[in-house]
Amino acid sequence: MNPVVRDGLEVLMAVAVGGMLWQAVGRLRRGEIRVYRCVSCARPTSRAYAVCRHCGAPQP
Ligand SMILES: [Zn+2]
Repeated sequence: MNPVVRDGLEVLMAVAVGGMLWQAVGRLRRGEIRVYRCVSCARPTSRAYAVCRHCGAPQP
């Protein structure tokens, strides 16, 4: 196989595996961290955002 193509495939594989691992870590963290609910609509949101993702209400 063309060595350039082979190296490119290796990079793609590494990126794909790394992305899957990162997503798994993200799911694990979201599952472990207690859900933070919006003060306005009471739907689950994230403290990482200054405003609710659903209704846009500012979070304390
Ligand atoms: Zn809300």
